[in-house]
Amino acid sequence: MKVSVVGLGPGGGADMTGRARAALERCELLVGYTAYIDLVKDQFPDKELLSTGMRREVDRCRAAVEAAAAGRRVAVVCSGDPGVYGMASLVYEVAQEYPPIEIEVIPGITAACGGAAVLGAPLTHDFAVISLSDLLTPWEKIEARLAGAAAADFVLCLYNPASRSRPDYLKRACDILLRHKAPETLCGTVRSIGRPGETARLCTLAELGEAEVDMFTTVFVGNSQTRNINGKMVTPRGYLQREG
Ligand code: SAH
Repeated sequence: MKVSVVGLGPGGGADMTGRARAALERCELLVGYTAYIDLVKDQFPDKELLSTGMRREVDRCRAAVEAAAAGRRVAVVCSGDPGVYGMASLVYEVAQEYPPIEIEVIPGITAACGGAAVLGAPLTHDFAVISLSDLLTPWEKIEARLAGAAAADFVLCLYNPASRSRPDYLKRACDILLRHKAPETLCGTVRSIGRPGETARLCTLAELGEAEVDMFTTVFVGNSQTRNINGKMVTPRGYLQREG
């Protein structure tokens, strides 16, 4: 029948949109990565759940599409926004192998927006979002994108800054950024956005390589104008500067 690919927002709680909540209410079956199903299962106790571990993304999407083709109302849940390093594209790709079904994508607050609001207003000018995970992208390409975005003075938002198997990726990324950005560039890290234990820290780009980050952290690197205003990370849009 229909697969709704639903963004839960960063925490799956108060930041979930009304549209996302309504879509979950309507569906019979919730499909997702175990950690994301856990975020919402208490709020939707009457739903059938299908959760699988990490790296089982293709199986999960096939199961969702097959259930929809069999006439069920299915929601594939993703943290943040399903179209930002989420399942939305994979559901479209996998669905090509089956008889036509309806697919809808329901947006959510991505970690960039959720984390920016915690830090202050770091993304108020042009920014680039780059994932440091090389599971699906060659590291050379990630390096080229980091260098290009840094050279163009974008604010950067880095997803997947580290994991157990790649503890030093943020350090490697910082070494590249430091070729184009000043060491005193203001940076921020936010862990567990919208979840219990949410924490945020500010530092300089020179310090960022040693910052404690993990797979639940999103990293922000300012542009040349970003500054610390009373402990908040702020990238001016330029209104006051225009007034001179
Ligand atoms: N679809 C998600 C991103 C999935 S990629 C979204 O739109 O937000 C996973 C990465 O997203 C994590 O490694 C982390 O960098 C970031 N992330 C997702 N949820 C987060 C949260 N609650 N707090 C901090 N970072 C988060």
